[in-house]
Amino acid sequence: MAEASKMQVSDEIAIQIQGMNKWYGQFHVLRDINMTVQRGERIVICGPSGSGKSTLIRCINRLEEHQQGHIVVDGTELTNDLKNIDKVRSEVGMVFQHFNLFPHLTILENLTLAPIWVRKVPKREAEETAMYFLEKVKIPEQAHKYPGQLSGGQQQRVAIARSLCMRPRIMLFDEPTSALDPEMIKEVLDTMIQLAQEGMTMICVTHEMGFAQAVANRVIFMDQGQIVEQNEPKEFFTNPKSDRTKLFLSQIL
Ligand code: ADP
Ligand code: MG
Repeated sequence: MAEASKMQVSDEIAIQIQGMNKWYGQFHVLRDINMTVQRGERIVICGPSGSGKSTLIRCINRLEEHQQGHIVVDGTELTNDLKNIDKVRSEVGMVFQHFNLFPHLTILENLTLAPIWVRKVPKREAEETAMYFLEKVKIPEQAHKYPGQLSGGQQQRVAIARSLCMRPRIMLFDEPTSALDPEMIKEVLDTMIQLAQEGMTMICVTHEMGFAQAVANRVIFMDQGQIVEQNEPKEFFTNPKSDRTKLFLSQIL
């Protein structure tokens, strides 16, 4: 696990967020967010429930719209321009707490659906790619089963493989292990660690602090819609600066 923390970070910018604000109706959910992510960074976002973590990462692939400021992903600014949104979505994979697999499709069909219908990849090629990534997440033997026949940990690894089939350059994870039984958390984290070691740019909302210490090069703490504090993991955990961070860490560690 220690290897991942030594992974290279390039000086190329993957994501730039400047002066970003978002409201849900009257509710000011994200306040003055500024954040730059270099290619190859592994960022963990933590913070209390309701602090805006999900909203922030959903803004990065435009599952949510921001009202003020700028979000630039891989050089493309997110505006109402649908072309830009499509481009960014094709470069950014997202894995959710609930795996969101199609229950009536086999694992292989879940993995090939978007490549075939959205990317127009020939079926044979899409299946080869799907099998490649199922091998990578170590469940190729499950290809012809249905999601309901798999454990939660296996389903989440399928969800990760499904994202990878679209060949993203950035992966966003929103509490990918928080719906899993404890014994399945490790297999999903191991898959994420492997991705990190391969140099994937990752933003993970998670409270798995062991994962953060081993893999993240930066931990961001959010509270009430703001980035309160960020630091490299060792400093973040041993020497938190703000009282809000200290309180949060005292509750979860
Ligand atoms: P977190 O992921 O940190 O728990 P969220 O981003 O999910 O936080 O939510 C931040 C705040 O925004 C919460 O108060 C939540 O109730 C509110 N919220 C989230 N989604 C919506 C929505 N679609 N409409 C209105 N309020 C929302
Ligand atoms: Mg959330």
